[in-house]
Amino acid sequence: LTQGLEALRDLPSETLDGHRMPLWVNTGLMADVARSLDRGAEGVGLYRTEIPFLLRERFPSEEEQRAIYREQLIAFAPLPVTMRTLDIGGDKALPYFPIEEENPFLGWRGIRVTLDHPEIFLVQVRAMLKASEGLNNLRIMLPMISNVQEVDEALELVRRAYDELVEDGWDVTLPPIGVMVEVPAAVYQARQLARRVDFLSVGSNDLTQYLLAVDRNNTRVADLYHAYHPAVLNSLRQVVDAAHAEGKPVGICGELAGDPAAVLLLMAMGYDMLSMNDNSLLRVKAVIRSCRYDELHALLESTALVDTADEVKALLRKTMTDIG
Ligand code: PEP
Ligand code: MG
Repeated sequence: LTQGLEALRDLPSETLDGHRMPLWVNTGLMADVARSLDRGAEGVGLYRTEIPFLLRERFPSEEEQRAIYREQLIAFAPLPVTMRTLDIGGDKALPYFPIEEENPFLGWRGIRVTLDHPEIFLVQVRAMLKASEGLNNLRIMLPMISNVQEVDEALELVRRAYDELVEDGWDVTLPPIGVMVEVPAAVYQARQLARRVDFLSVGSNDLTQYLLAVDRNNTRVADLYHAYHPAVLNSLRQVVDAAHAEGKPVGICGELAGDPAAVLLLMAMGYDMLSMNDNSLLRVKAVIRSCRYDELHALLESTALVDTADEVKALLRKTMTDIG
């Protein structure tokens, strides 16, 4: 089977009736790069910058960060690499920057930390911009956005970092900037967010956790954590419609994007890009190449008519069997 899948590497990610579905990859380490390229990734939809931070004993300097990011950008160039600004807090704690809270998932995490510490944010963005000099394949993405002011503030800081570098003689360009939709508030303000940036990307892991009030790491409630929950699927659909109403592309970079059955729904919803772990790339491509895009809308509408995640799952399973 693996061998069969490997043959798909250089074949386009498109349905039997010719609908293209770009498949991107999630990375965090240089070790991910070779496998991702081997499996035909068309770009990086999520580079988790906190991973290199987690492997150190102190904050990496601007120069250290520049070197790390440049390696990643060079490895994929000319393919785009979407670098997410530091997303610590929640379940991801840096040993040298402890955060102690009763409710870490509702606390100081993601953009909240870096806007409270603009020096961390500015150093990181400067390092990303410097790293992209002459390559121009950088995209920057903001995690855990829950209101528009956070976006405005972050955009201002990116602009400041860019202006300073240009003044210092760096030959850099302002990269596309995007917002992660992973807090329910962002679903309901997706149009206002999309208006401010170049793209949206849904973080379905956190979005599921927050919509269903189910800690994504708590085994006791793991049965309640289901991205096929109709409330989650409705939200995912709403985000696409909002982004497109503003003329902006929207992707998804949570685990759901690597689930071949869910991909059928995501395509029908209109997602412009799917970003997943490298080990899902070929399996997802196999499913895309076996289905007809013009039949997926009927599937989406039938899942919209049922009331439970289990029923959605049953419908998807049946379709997957039909596809073979
Ligand atoms: C997500 O929340 O879906 C996501 C992609 O980000 P992370 O898993 O790193 O929180
Ligand atoms: Mg997240």
